[in-house]
Amino acid sequence: MNIGVLALQGAVAEHIRSIELAGGKGVAVKRTEQLAEIDGLIIPGGESTTIGKLMRKYDFIEAIRGFAQAGKPVFGTCAGLIVLAKKLEGAEEPHLQLMDMTVARNAFGRQRESFETDLDVKGIETPLRAVFIRAPLIKEVGPEVDVLSTYKGEIVTARQGNLLASSYHPELTDDFRLHGYFLRMAEEAAMNSSAR
Ligand code: GLN
Repeated sequence: MNIGVLALQGAVAEHIRSIELAGGKGVAVKRTEQLAEIDGLIIPGGESTTIGKLMRKYDFIEAIRGFAQAGKPVFGTCAGLIVLAKKLEGAEEPHLQLMDMTVARNAFGRQRESFETDLDVKGIETPLRAVFIRAPLIKEVGPEVDVLSTYKGEIVTARQGNLLASSYHPELTDDFRLHGYFLRMAEEAAMNSSAR
């Protein structure tokens, strides 16, 4: 499976490394034409306002919406989760508006700007190592969204069909199982589209 990592800003190389450890091929995506060559797309962490601006500038908003609507999987981590959300708390404009959830940015406050923890994630056998850096939280989800993990009662991993989102950075540890999970989503999507 060729898995693209949106390479406008943020933690791109780390995601490519995790995808390759999980058995896929990682590709840095800088132009919309490259979406035609990949089986899944990761939107990395970084700074969501900057990523959103660059996505508009390089025509990625409509292109990624089309990619997701064609059934191809998209995985947003941290800032990437913010970019996927239908609604953002506060006055801020949402970006792709693909995933039916309301997200609060920088939701852990100053005391806990960054930390690591082990999380129970539905679909992953033993706890996953997760790194939170100025992380967002999912405050509300629509009926089609499946909550895959919570941290202190707050939603930090969720899936809606072919869309996956994590508040934390799964690419900053050697635990690549969430990338493996995403790779399986891409394999299933590819099988379904060739069966059609
Ligand atoms: N705080 C960042 C934002 O709001 C996200 C941080 C991250 O991706 N690690 O965009």
